[in-house]
Amino acid sequence: MSNKNKKHQQNIAGSWYCTDPDDDKGEGCIACNVCYSGAPEFFAEDENGNAFVKKQPTTPQEIALCEEQMDACPVASIGNDGQ
Ligand code: SF4
Repeated sequence: MSNKNKKHQQNIAGSWYCTDPDDDKGEGCIACNVCYSGAPEFFAEDENGNAFVKKQPTTPQEIALCEEQMDACPVASIGNDGQ
């Protein structure tokens, strides 16, 4: 699950975030590449292939695209504090 207390340090400020792979529960990003392949405008990979949010979605279309990545993430490590 996403963990707002263990956000990836490279997330850009805002409600959307990816959870750091070092999440204590072992449920952070596993570098599967789904989100940054599916929505490269909003998600990027660090040097280890782990994801972070590089741009916050604002329009309904952008939010819908990010919600698709959230639903597709195999470990549900994408979070949105606004929800
Ligand atoms: S979809 Fe989830 S596990 Fe895969 S790279 Fe993105 S945040 Fe990481």
